[in-house]
Parts: sequence; C-alpha cells; structure tokens
Amino acid sequence: MRTQSTDVLIIGAGPAGLMAALVLSMMKVKVRLVDRRLSHEASGQADGIQPRMIEIWESLGIGSELRERSEHVHRMVKKILFPALNGLILELKVTYSPTADRAGIEETQGSDVEHLSTNSEVSILARNDIIEEILEERLKVEGVVVERSGVPISLDVESQDQDPYPVKVKVAWLNEQIIREKNVSQEARGDLESVDGLVEKFECIPAKFVIGCDGGKSWTRRQLGIAMEGNQTDLDWGVVDFTPRTNFPTPRTKNIIQSPLEGFLGYLPRPNGAARVYVMLGEGKEEKVVSGDECKRIIAGKMRRGFAPYEMEIENATWCAIFRVSQRVAKRFSGHGRIFIAGDACHTHSPKAGQGANASMSDTFNLAWKIAYVVRHQARLDILETYEQERRPHSLELIQLDRKIFRLFSGQTIIPTDYTSLWHEQMLFVSGIGLRYSSQLIDSSGQFLAPGLTIGERIPSSEVIRTDDWRPLNLHDICPFDGRFRLFILPGSVLEECNVKRLAAFNSSIAAKGEQHEVLTERLETCIIDNDPSTVVESIPLLRVISGSNDRVYFDRNATSGGVYNIWQIASHGIAFMVRPDAHISSIVAMDEAGICAIKKYFTSWTDLS
Ligand code: FAD
Repeated sequence: MRTQSTDVLIIGAGPAGLMAALVLSMMKVKVRLVDRRLSHEASGQADGIQPRMIEIWESLGIGSELRERSEHVHRMVKKILFPALNGLILELKVTYSPTADRAGIEETQGSDVEHLSTNSEVSILARNDIIEEILEERLKVEGVVVERSGVPISLDVESQDQDPYPVKVKVAWLNEQIIREKNVSQEARGDLESVDGLVEKFECIPAKFVIGCDGGKSWTRRQLGIAMEGNQTDLDWGVVDFTPRTNFPTPRTKNIIQSPLEGFLGYLPRPNGAARVYVMLGEGKEEKVVSGDECKRIIAGKMRRGFAPYEMEIENATWCAIFRVSQRVAKRFSGHGRIFIAGDACHTHSPKAGQGANASMSDTFNLAWKIAYVVRHQARLDILETYEQERRPHSLELIQLDRKIFRLFSGQTIIPTDYTSLWHEQMLFVSGIGLRYSSQLIDSSGQFLAPGLTIGERIPSSEVIRTDDWRPLNLHDICPFDGRFRLFILPGSVLEECNVKRLAAFNSSIAAKGEQHEVLTERLETCIIDNDPSTVVESIPLLRVISGSNDRVYFDRNATSGGVYNIWQIASHGIAFMVRPDAHISSIVAMDEAGICAIKKYFTSWTDLS
C-alpha cells in the first residue's frame, strides 16, 4: 500500500471540495483531493451564482473566467426603472402572470427594482460543470489535481499528541476501464464487491485534517455518526436542461412564471441558447422514479400548458429529473476537532433560491483559511470551532427561507405581491451580501465607533482612489484573497494636526507590535483611507511616510458627496477596522492605545501570541 501523507485530505471535488482545495493551496497548505467521479462525469446541478460568491471568485482571481463562461442576469422584469447603486441591479419579480381570462400567461407590466450595494454588477448563471472546470484549472496552477476515482472505505483518528497526522483514511482506488466497461454508477462505486476487478489498489492516507465535501449522502458524515435534522417535503418537481424551440418573448432572461394552468414555472437561460426549466408536479405520496423519456414527457406536457399561449418545446434535452426536496441540516459540522463536513453534506434544500453551490462554497471559504492558520501554527486548534458557529446558523436560516418559498409555491397560484415581498425581505440573504457572522473571531465591542459599518458582515462595496496611481478602486479590489488580515485606518482629515499625530502614533505602535511579533506583521496589512480629496495632494507625501507605503494610501472617492466617512458614521477621532481573510469585518477600534490593545487582544484570543 503506498502512502502519501497530507495536511488536509478533501473527500469530494464538487464546488465545496474544490473551493476548500483552492483556498488551502493558495495558502501553501498541502492538500489531496479525492473523488469517485471520473473526469467529465456530472454530479451537482448548480446554476445560479449569487453576488457575494461572484465577489469571492473575484478575490480569488477567477471572476473574469466565471463571467466569460456564463450567462448574466441583468433583469427579470420588462422595465428597469432606476440606475443601480454601485452597478448592481438585482430584481426578482413574477415576470409572467395569468391573463385576465386565465387561459394563459402574459408579461407582467412595469415594476420597481431592488438595489444592492456590491462590487458585482449581476448575478450569474453558470452550470456546475463550468464552476468545477474553472476551479480545477485554477487549482492546477497551484499544483493540485483531483485524484480519481477513489472512494474512502475507513476513517480512524489516532492520538493527536503523538502523531502529526492523526487522521487515517483508507481509500480504494478504482479501475477506470472497468467503471466504464461495466457502467458502474457513482453510487455503486462504494460497494467494492459489486464488480470483479473494480479495485485497483488501496492506500492509507494520513492527514492532519479531513474535510468531507461528499454531497448530500456524505460518507464522511455517516462515519462521524452525525444526524441530519429536518424533514422531506412531499412535493415533486421536474427540471429539464434543453434547447428551447419557442416564440416566448424573453428567452434570454431569467423568468418567474405564474401560470393559471400549471402554477409556478422557473425559466433560466443557459449558455449557447440553452435553458433550464423547473416545473411543479404537485404532491405525491412517495418519490417517483421515472426513466429519462417518461420524465421528459411529463415535464414537456407541463411546460406546454404552463407557457401557453407561447410555444415552448424541448429540443436536445441534456438532463432531466424529477426530484423531491429534503430540508435538513446536519446536527454538527465536525467530529474529533479534525474532521469537518461542508456543502451538501451539511445542508440539503430546494434549488428554488439558487443557494446550494453558493452555500457550499461559502462553507469551505469560511473553513479553509482557518485550517490553514492552524496547519501553519498561526492559530490554535479551537479557532476551528468558529466554522460551525458561523456557518450552521446560516444553514438553518437557509432552510427557513426554503420553507417560506415552498409554502409560497405549493399553492396553486403564487400571489405576486407575496413573492415580491418575500424576495424584498430576503434579498440581502439570498445575494449573500447581508451574511453576518458571530463567533470568537468577531469582536463587536467597537460597533459604536462606526455605526454604519457592520461588524461581522463582509466589507461594503465602496469606492476609493489609490493615491499611488490615482486609480479608482473598490474596497474589494484591494482585498484580494491572500490569507492575510487587513487593517483599514480612517484618520479623518490629515490636514488637522491632531489627526496626523494620532495616526502617526497609532501606525508606529502597530509597526512596533509587528516587529515584536513577526506573525502579526506577516498577517496584517495596513491601509489608510483619507477623507479629504480637496487637500489630498498636500497630504499624500505625509501619509506615505506614515504608512511606509506608496500603494496603500487611498482617499474616499465620494468624500464631497457623502462618502464612506459619512455612510459609516466614523467617530470624529478616527477609527481602524480589521478585515479577516474572507473579507468579513472582525472588529472596529479607536485610533489610540486602547485600539492597539484591542487588536493585540483579538489575535491573542486565538493564537499563541503573548
Ligand atoms: P456535490 O456537488 O454533490 O459534490 C460532491 C462530490 O463528492 C461529487 O464530486 C461526488 O462525486 C463526490 N463524492 C460523493 N460521495 C463520494 C465518495 N463516497 N467518495 C468519493 N467522492 C464522493 N445550487 C446553486 O447554488 N444554485 C443553483 O441554481 C442550483 N440549482 C440546482 C438545481 C438542481 C436541480 C439541483 C439538484 C441542485 C441545484 N443546486 C444549485 C445545488 C447544487 O448543485 C449543490 O448544492 C452543490 O453541487 C453542492 O456542492 P457540494 O460540493 O457540496 O456537493
């Protein structure tokens, strides 16, 4: 048996597993990623990438690839009445409603739109295989490839004091040719006896940590004996990916259709003129298993009536399924302090809010940088408890939303105003923008210093100008993911002498602490945001001297028209706020000695910094 140990073993290379591998490898942590699927075999069925996830992809340097290879949702209604704030228009409305005679549907006339403040201009429709392809390409740059086809068969945890690699996972490597020849299904690959010659060899992989990203029926979760809490709905849904033959007026936009004949239908454009449609099949006593042709026939019939008076015919169906939704969340997200589950392994729900892959990648984006800190001896093991503290409440909220959507759709007709107000209410949640974490890695005590800047949320999308080259940038542009914390110092106008003195003292204290504690310097990048564009030319040289850097001095782009100082309600003596590697604000401190102590205390609370 060959053995190659690893810092982190990831089981499952869907969106969650690939995101975990990318973040860890970008932070120079050794990973191995095992999947039972052969390359180009499909697994997840994600479609919608929400604004916060687009920001995350941008921060990982893969946003442009995502944009290039996907469909962009700019509108869902006929009229867009307002220009978007910060470039984003995100609006979700019932786009087709019943005609007066209830014989068919017609486009809903006029509507207002929702605005969100984000650096991303649209939500994006990207197929699961495209999401995975881009992540895999990026991973290759980090020297990581998915190892296929492997299934874990046992998991043991040994004494953590003695062994640097206490988790041992035995993996069976399968024969690809046999899988193809005998057409062994993905599910059946775990049953090693099912087909002669299926197993090529075994390997025991010693690891410091294991992340189970192995989907809704997670093997890892079962090894840990973690129960899923919640229940299964009794509504059947149909979904088909196809090329439409249609005279439907808006086939290249996302459409929510309320048909008087067939209830809810969802229509999503996909690349190359293709589309996905969801139909509601109604209450069934038990889950039906129907073949591809039968499935297509049922869905096609629903679509024909649902889109009337427009023609909507299925050509070249590439995937269709009838499914029933479980709304469940895992009771725990980890075991033995070293084994974690993420993605669909932790939460299952309907695809109605387009959240599954987003939530799954958000799970591992949250977890992976923390594991990297522990592996690099920059954080204590207990920091990993914050993964469940931060992500499980989000999963529970997601299930609540799913239940509300279900209730709305399970009636024969959707009441458009109910739908709109649910979306209005949930917009920040659905987009991922409003996600607020609370754990020992979030210190809310300084919230009063900047009431407009919410501790625990991701940094707002705000415009600044870099004084080095006068380039307008978004705060998210200056926080690319590199595993570091960032400290933004907002001193107020530096033409006021007292502010300059405070800034210089604060900054040199941080630098001195950094010298004392290498780990702090390595971890913390400081940036200054001045608020006074009228005087900025005079103040730049001074700020550069104080900050010791040319390219980390910015000024508030919209200072004269109520910019960030105004929006965030910055305390008059200036503040500093700290941003975690995942762009969530972890604390706000005053720009004085107490602030320095608070920053040090923050790091001391989860590292061995003394
Ligand atoms: P998966 O994508 O399920 O990946 C799990 C991986 O683990 C797979 O590669 C699998 O091969 C591997 N694996 C499993 N068991 C083992 C094992 N024993 N050994 C080795 N490998 C194993 N999400 C959205 O965000 N937006 C949407 O619009 C959306 N639409 C959807 C529409 C439909 C019809 C469906 C069904 C889902 C939709 N989803 C959507 C949900 C989304 O597909 C999932 O939430 C997402 O794929 C979960 O990612 P994951 O990495 O956790 O799991």
